[in-house]
Amino acid sequence: MVGGLSGRNIHIWNQAAVDNLAWRIHTLQESLWVNTNYSIKEDYEHSLANQHKVRWRHLVWNRISIPKTRFVFWLIARQGLKTKEKLFQLGVVVDHSCPLCGLQPETHRHLFYNCSFSRLCVEAVKSWIGISLKPITHMNFRNRRLSKTKQQVLTSIFTCTFYHIWKCRNKAV
Ligand SMILES: [Zn+2]
Repeated sequence: MVGGLSGRNIHIWNQAAVDNLAWRIHTLQESLWVNTNYSIKEDYEHSLANQHKVRWRHLVWNRISIPKTRFVFWLIARQGLKTKEKLFQLGVVVDHSCPLCGLQPETHRHLFYNCSFSRLCVEAVKSWIGISLKPITHMNFRNRRLSKTKQQVLTSIFTCTFYHIWKCRNKAV
């Protein structure tokens, strides 16, 4: 198609628009700090401690990841999802228990790092791709033997995993 939007162009435009939007939001709120050493756990801990340094941008915002999954992951890392614990604190809900296991308050940390359901999912994915990472640091890719591309592929796999955990959670609510 000449002069119009073909399917491929629309896909590229959508991806660019999501990236651009996320980038604008991100740069407005935070200073970016780029480092090729990548640890989701550390980034998560930084986020919890309100230390505004985000180091996973280059691995998460790549061409391999599916835009909606990396956006959800970005929200997870920023604790931006409307978990029941957040809604409970706002007085929107009276029950803040995790809809997947029912054992703990549904915080980001619990839902994606400590929940028995999530752990099972992550372990299944790890088993499927044949990698062994520390149980809690699901995405600790500090292993420098991995090329950047392999790190991006692994990141994409786990952003997908986290995205589907969030989808399961939404179905369970
Ligand atoms: Zn749970």
